[in-house]
Amino acid sequence: MTTAEIKAMATEYIMNTYGERSLAFVRGEEAYLWDADGKKYLDFLGGLAVNGLGHCHPNVVAAIREQAGKLLHISNLYYIEPQARLAKMLIDNSDMDQCFFCNSGAEANEAGIKLARKYTRDQGRDAYEIITMDNSFHGRTMATITATAQPKYHKGFEPMVPGFTYVPYDDLSAVEAAISSKTCGILVEAIQSEGGVNTPGSGYIEGLRELCDKHDLVLILDEVQTAMGRLGPLFGYQSYGIIPDIITMAKSLGGGAPIGAMLAKGQIAASFVPGTHAATFGGNPLVTAAACATVETILDENLGENAVKMGDYLEFKLMGLKDQYPIKEVRGKGLLRGLVLSVDANELAAKCIENGLITICTNDYILRFLPPLNITAAHVDEAVSIVEKSLAETV
Ligand SMILES: *Cc1c(COP(=O)(O)O)cnc(C)c1O
Repeated sequence: MTTAEIKAMATEYIMNTYGERSLAFVRGEEAYLWDADGKKYLDFLGGLAVNGLGHCHPNVVAAIREQAGKLLHISNLYYIEPQARLAKMLIDNSDMDQCFFCNSGAEANEAGIKLARKYTRDQGRDAYEIITMDNSFHGRTMATITATAQPKYHKGFEPMVPGFTYVPYDDLSAVEAAISSKTCGILVEAIQSEGGVNTPGSGYIEGLRELCDKHDLVLILDEVQTAMGRLGPLFGYQSYGIIPDIITMAKSLGGGAPIGAMLAKGQIAASFVPGTHAATFGGNPLVTAAACATVETILDENLGENAVKMGDYLEFKLMGLKDQYPIKEVRGKGLLRGLVLSVDANELAAKCIENGLITICTNDYILRFLPPLNITAAHVDEAVSIVEKSLAETV
């Protein structure tokens, strides 16, 4: 099918939640994509941080092929070998003690919110409120849009779920002022990506840890986007030198297979007992086999280290355009980066795509980059030269 044919069919039969799109990709290899009309693109969006290993990584493809021929799905009424192996791998490489598997980032956060409330009740304290941050993004289920402190995501869906309080990001005294006898936890992103690549000042995440210790609260770090080496260490919290109580992940965990996970410290994890939580597909053989191959590859090939190197190089190259173009700064860490312009970046993002670079405009003035972690300096050079060409053509 051509792009036009796919578009016509999709427009008629699929609900319009994603709006009108111009592209339909049919093939991917490493950091490149091909659309239905045969045009090639460099992918610096990586399926919104999902394709950490690029497209169709041979290790992931081989694991999926092998598992698909053995056992695709079996319920969590039974033990699942790749699920157990994945859990061990995540625990061995984190400070957490046990995992719960689900299918998405929103579900991982739902599980984290439920566990924080349940654990607090189990401690004999009737507290349920979770503090979250302005401009956060935690998902699209009812509880996670409520946790997401951006009114545009609430509009039309009220009433919201009770038990969430919002404070400005990167403001410790606002958090302390919001803590009450009803508070059971704090939910925060290691870096706010969707909200505008907002990187907290030094001491912020550490300060949240201190507040949680002082007030006996559960610290939930939403690592849906920052886990799996994107900021350097396998988990984003490891670059802050603190240990959260719960971390949630999804996006790049499966190398393209849809999987989410919620990890917790042992004493807290123990509050999930038989019957308290479940997911039919959660951690099924196919997706956990894919995730095992993904995590192994990230660790074996030191891709976190490469993410830091390439992220710094990308920042350096982009900052080289600052004198000529209306660029304010480059934000973020590792390969979660935002090029902040002083002019509207929507047209620039469209022009980049036209020129063969996949990226996205966030908050109208930020060009966001979430490329695969295994890119090379040549990929960065290619991307930045397309950005430069597109800047010259638009601003
Ligand atoms: C994408 C994202 C989510 C939601 O994940 P889904 O898989 O879309 O449900 C939650 N939190 C953060 C930080 C995200 O980036």
